[in-house]
Parts: sequence; structure tokens; C-alpha cells
Amino acid sequence: MQSELELLRQLVRIRTENPPGNDYREVATFIGEILTKAGYEVSYIEAAPRIVNVLAKLRGTRGYPTLLLNGHLDVVPAGEGWQHPPFEGVSDGDRVYGRGTADMKGAIASMIVAAQRIAQQPQAIAGDLLLAFTADEETGGLNGVKFLLDKQLIQADFAIVGEPTDFEVRPCQRGALWLEIEFRGRSAHGSLPHLGVNAVEMAAEAIAALRRTCPANLSHQLLGSPTLSINRIDGGTKVNVIPNRCRIEIDRRMLPEESASEVEAAIRSTIDQVKLPGSEYALTRMIHAEPFELVAGQLRIAEYCEKAYKQATGRETARTGELSFTDARLLVREGKIPTVIFGPGLDSVCHITDEYIAVNDVIAAAEVYYLLVHDVLG
Ligand SMILES: [Zn+2]
Repeated sequence: MQSELELLRQLVRIRTENPPGNDYREVATFIGEILTKAGYEVSYIEAAPRIVNVLAKLRGTRGYPTLLLNGHLDVVPAGEGWQHPPFEGVSDGDRVYGRGTADMKGAIASMIVAAQRIAQQPQAIAGDLLLAFTADEETGGLNGVKFLLDKQLIQADFAIVGEPTDFEVRPCQRGALWLEIEFRGRSAHGSLPHLGVNAVEMAAEAIAALRRTCPANLSHQLLGSPTLSINRIDGGTKVNVIPNRCRIEIDRRMLPEESASEVEAAIRSTIDQVKLPGSEYALTRMIHAEPFELVAGQLRIAEYCEKAYKQATGRETARTGELSFTDARLLVREGKIPTVIFGPGLDSVCHITDEYIAVNDVIAAAEVYYLLVHDVLG
């Protein structure tokens, strides 16, 4: 059996940058072969050409309950400016550097090691262990977890998504709605602005009004407040031409009590109120990820995580909220599976240059997941 460190290095060396997101087969096969050898029933699910997910199942003696461990195989593109090569998995002290070390091949290495150890004594588990290593998370999860749920290939009573939380247990997550709004007016000569409808000025009015649509009074114990930021703007052609077009992009983060349709309706009605006569706009959803929060009867999986962490490390962990969006929302909302986000590594190093993870955390996570699987399925 390979060590957590060797396994992590090998995973980092298989480049699964998304976009483009078409190199999944190699990593899926690499993991699938390890788990087949360990005694798992392995299947490869191709959601679209070259977009391969891998599922592995170990049957317990009773077949109930089922625990799912999930991680995404893709990483965001490395980009420029690294001090360490992004796809070699080089070590410096306790740290391993590379794209995807924290987000989230570290957790995948931990899950594989835990799964191999569990399979050495399969009679010790009564329930089934299901592992799903999936594609496409970084671009929305449609060909990954969503596809597997739609095909009813994932059914479980509890799930862990091993995104980096530094071992905090996260039973809730904010939602995200990314919108593009294109304002259209009428161009005119810069000396005759009254003959045109200025799309840039229209956008400016809308921006000022939209900032007030984010409810300042809402707040959640673990997730804080909703946010709205306008992060792109593009319009106009020349200093002396009244612009007929301007587009903006909005990033709205939602609390569990909000829904994308209500948020979008509020944004539309705000723009309708400030719209200049003769202007039009088109609103398009770029990304839509609903928030979630486990309710009282679903929190057992959070307790299992806290207990396993204490058992493995002797320390207590905190219960916090996930501020970005992960595939856990799909498992909870569409799969109806009580899911927490719980994994090694820091979320602050994700998607940046010189991403790293501490090897000791990857080793600790393997032990935590191992104990957790025994406790849930024992
Ligand atoms: Zn991730």
C-alpha cells in the first residue's frame, strides 16, 4: 500500500485542469485500479466524451446504512507565477506544493488510504461504503455529481465531501447566483447625447440601485450575511460616442433562507424601477447554486465527524459554514443525502499560486476517515 504522500504526489502529477477538463480518464483509471485491487466493485461513468467519474463500492455484512465519501478530480488551471512546479508535488518540510494539493487531491489521497484499510477487514463493517471521485466540480458539477444523481448511481444515507475545511465540520453552505446583465440603449454623437440612450449611464444607475437589494438585515450564525458584488463591467466604444451597450456581471451569495428565483426577481424589479426610457436589458444566469443547511434530524453525520476527529487527534474541532459553493449542495438538495463538508487543508490556499497542503494533515485525515467509516457503518 502506498503512503498518503506518494499517492498525493501521483494524483497531482496527473493534470486535471478544468477548464479544459478533458483529462479525467487517466486519474479515474489510476484510482479505480487501486480500489479494484483492494476489493472494491469499481465502475467508470463517462458523462460526456472524456469526462469520466469513478465509483467504488465495498459491501458490508448487512447492507445498511450507506456512507458516501466524495471528492472532485478536477483542479483549476495552474496559471503563472509559481515558486514550485505546479504538477510535480514537491515537498518542502511538511508541505507538499502543487495545484490541487488542498483542493482537493489531499483529501482524495486520504480517502483512498482509508478505503484500502477498511477493505482489509470487510467483515468489520455492516453498512456499505461508497466512494465517488467525480468530474467537473470547478465548472458546476453537471457532468460529475449531478450526472450521477440524475442516473441514480449515488444513493446514500450520509455523505462527506472532503473539500478543504482544515477539519472544521460544515453542515451548511451559502448559495451563489452569478448573473450577466446586458443593457442596451441607442448610440448617438457625443455632442448630441439627448438623441441617444446611454447604456453606460443606465448601468451606473442600476449598479447604485442593485447594491441596495442585498438584504443587510439577514444574518446566519455560521454563514454570516448575504453579499452582492458587481465584479465586471464592459461598455462603450469611444469617448465621443453615446454607448448603446454595456454589460455587467454580478456575484450574489445567498443564505439558506433565500432562493435564486426570489433574488433574481428582486434584481429585475430594481432594474425596472431605474430603467431609462428607451433602454432594454437582458439578464442571463451564469451559475446558479442553491444554498443548503442540514436540519436537526440530519446532523448525526456532523457528530460522527467531530467524534472521529477527536478520536484521531485528541483535539476538538469547530462547526462552521461553507461560504463558497461545493458539490455538497447537489447531494443535499437533489440527492436528499445529509452531507457535511469536512476535509484536510486550508481553503485560503485554494485556486492561488503555490497551493499546498501539510502532509501531516493528509495522514491525519486518512485516520479520521477510517475511524468515521467504522463508526457510521460498524
Ligand atoms: Zn474544491
